[in-house]
Amino acid sequence: QVRVRFAPSPTGPLHIGGVRTALYNYLFAKKHNGSFILRIEDTDQNRYVEGSEQYIIDALNWCQIPFDEGPEHNEKFGPYRQSERKHLYQEYAEKLIASGHAYYAFDTAESLEHQRKNHESKGKTFIYNWHNRKLLLNSLALSKEETQAKLDAGEDYVIRFKSPQDQTLHLKDIIRGEITIDTNILDDKVLFKSDGMPTYHLANIVDDHLMEITHVIRGEEWLPSLALHYQLYDAFGWEKPQFAHLPLLLKPTGKGKLSKRDGDKLGFPVFPLEWKDPQTGDVSRGYREDGYFADGLINFLALLGWNPGTEQEQFSLEELVDAFELERVHKSGARFDPDKIKWFNHQYMQHQNDDELAEIFQENQPQLKAIDPGYIALVIGLIKERATFISDFWDLSSYFFEAPQVYDEKAFAKVMNKDTRELMSELEQVITHVSDFTVKNIQTDVKAWIGKKGVGFGKVMQPLRLALVGAMQGPDVFEIMFLIGKAETVQRIDKLVQ
Ligand code: GLU
Repeated sequence: QVRVRFAPSPTGPLHIGGVRTALYNYLFAKKHNGSFILRIEDTDQNRYVEGSEQYIIDALNWCQIPFDEGPEHNEKFGPYRQSERKHLYQEYAEKLIASGHAYYAFDTAESLEHQRKNHESKGKTFIYNWHNRKLLLNSLALSKEETQAKLDAGEDYVIRFKSPQDQTLHLKDIIRGEITIDTNILDDKVLFKSDGMPTYHLANIVDDHLMEITHVIRGEEWLPSLALHYQLYDAFGWEKPQFAHLPLLLKPTGKGKLSKRDGDKLGFPVFPLEWKDPQTGDVSRGYREDGYFADGLINFLALLGWNPGTEQEQFSLEELVDAFELERVHKSGARFDPDKIKWFNHQYMQHQNDDELAEIFQENQPQLKAIDPGYIALVIGLIKERATFISDFWDLSSYFFEAPQVYDEKAFAKVMNKDTRELMSELEQVITHVSDFTVKNIQTDVKAWIGKKGVGFGKVMQPLRLALVGAMQGPDVFEIMFLIGKAETVQRIDKLVQ
């Protein structure tokens, strides 16, 4: 049974790259009828930010990629917050010491800094591993008694992994294939600290094992940790999950990693939901508040680093689940193109239900309070082809609700010549006499009259459009007349020629 996890640290709002990681995990889980687990990696208390866990949960829910197991939800393998699993990690760190895979180290930050400088001055890099382990202050250099005495005296320590000498590791990644690593370049990473907290590496491996995770799907920034993770599984004698490291998201220019700070700077959101920083009170914009549809955003994110191998671009969530394959995830970074999300939003707009759109539009627009929602839905049906956001609706449709106050100057100058007034007065008569005011009837009568008059179609249609819309834009004029009704149509033509 496939079990995957999304394991964010609650250090602030979830970045759009995090949403993509969650999405790929979700798609993979659902494709294989597996479980998608949310684990909160909150062992670094200094970086903990109030409200971020709830934000992450709200964001996943809004994106319609909810988790099957997680904090306060189906706690079968719980708890799912690492801070609540603290008691477990020390035991596992000590197991590694007992089996000779890890050791205590008592070096102070200053003495390590000194080592670093010392090496640098000789043109070398300091690596805490077999190179110089014996020269440092740790249980491999000290006697058993000396080590015990330091522990008994309550000295600060860390537990380090004992990275082996002269070994070649063959790491496997579903996306990247085999990666070969020489252990001589690896340092002895810290697994546990004397404040009782594990580091990311230890907690992550212990939890993935205990939660029976089968596939680890995460960002490329964790690829350098894979060698250590492999060695930890081997040291514990545990079966490894399979790994897949997702490509970086790049800035719109294609240069450099897309960062949390890029959003407001470059004028587009990088967060799914709005975020108010609890410390500074600063608000960062979110896709939800900017008027994006969650399914369009998800469609966009799915294609950011993956493609189905076909020309298809638009996918429902079910279709994504069906089509998704980790093997088709790209190795190279994916350029983030904010115009493309707008394109998706426009596409998704066309599939939305007009009654539902009308409801939101009416809520956002106080002028529409008293208008029949059925009428608003018909208007939306005519104009949404030109809209990217619901917030575009008013500008595209105000003339369906109130007569234009001003006319586009250029258009007015162009279409209002000496014949226009006369033509429009005659047209008014034709329209007044349309018996059953349907699109088809208006069209038939007006076209018949134009034919009889022998004038160009545009000569009539352009001033008519100007009278109805106030500008040379908008949908079919006959549709507009039908919707606003005969009396209003006549009044607007009247107003233009006055
Ligand atoms: N807590 C890590 C993060 O914030 C998890 C990395 C992983 O999935 O192993 O991304």
